[in-house]
Amino acid sequence: MGTKRQKTAHHTINYETLTFDEVLRNVRSLEGPPGEGLIHAWIAEVPASESAKVLSAIREGVDDTVDLKHLKRFVKTANGTLRTLVCSVDHMKRPQLEELLRSVTILNITEELVPGIYPTTKEVSLELSAKYWPISWKGNPLVQELNELKVDVPAVKKNLEYIAKIAKETTGKQLPIVTMMVDSRDPQRRVVSVDSRETNQLAHSVMRCIQEVADHEVERRKLGEERDYLCFGYDVYTTHEPCAMCSMALVHSRVSNLYYVNQSPVTGAIDPQSGSGYCIHRALTLNWKFEAWHWLEELDVDKIAPDVFV
Ligand SMILES: [Zn+2]
Repeated sequence: MGTKRQKTAHHTINYETLTFDEVLRNVRSLEGPPGEGLIHAWIAEVPASESAKVLSAIREGVDDTVDLKHLKRFVKTANGTLRTLVCSVDHMKRPQLEELLRSVTILNITEELVPGIYPTTKEVSLELSAKYWPISWKGNPLVQELNELKVDVPAVKKNLEYIAKIAKETTGKQLPIVTMMVDSRDPQRRVVSVDSRETNQLAHSVMRCIQEVADHEVERRKLGEERDYLCFGYDVYTTHEPCAMCSMALVHSRVSNLYYVNQSPVTGAIDPQSGSGYCIHRALTLNWKFEAWHWLEELDVDKIAPDVFV
């Protein structure tokens, strides 16, 4: 991955441990999608003199939903002709393809396997390129993604210290689990909830927070203020890594960031090392993703029994 640790515009990032400024760890699974992600594509071989023509035919007639932008368009053969990547086989049948290329001199049309997914390492990129069809390698996508993230670390620390203090004040049967949700566009707009499962089994602190944001939202909508998704733009601060139910609710309400202090190694649904390794905030099958962050600096938050679903 090149340099292990690097100072970027916003942070000092360690790309191996995914830590930012040594106090926040970006939580995500580093595994790419399973398999080589191969797809079937149409390859048309044309004389080199036809390159402009074939390109313009593709630009005009192909509107492929399969993303092939990471692949090279042309491969030059030993005898000087050009093998041209046209589109995925799913996008059009052969008669349509021939119709599309009717003004171009075609030497040969074949159906071939090409890499359908941009790889996560240069090594894999080279391997797939040699085996199937060349990829335009533009650097490690993880490094690029991490470099674009920007966190107000002092503000995060302050908010986590605040909920840790409230957790310390819980008494009796209440679990010391506290969540705060802050509207990142208007940080004065915030709600705080303590776990209340002693009165209602499902009253986990995250669920209570979302409910409270929903209640506020109803009031605001009465006043004519329209907003898209329930918690869109909200950042979530919580003392313990949330369970699957709460994590799912955070995905559905479309929060931006989740910050937590203690990992829940048995029942957590965020860290790939926790519980069943769901990593729900980045699940490929769900239509929303958010960033999750584990606070690494010492902060006084009570441990709870490992079998408790936070
Ligand atoms: Zn929960």
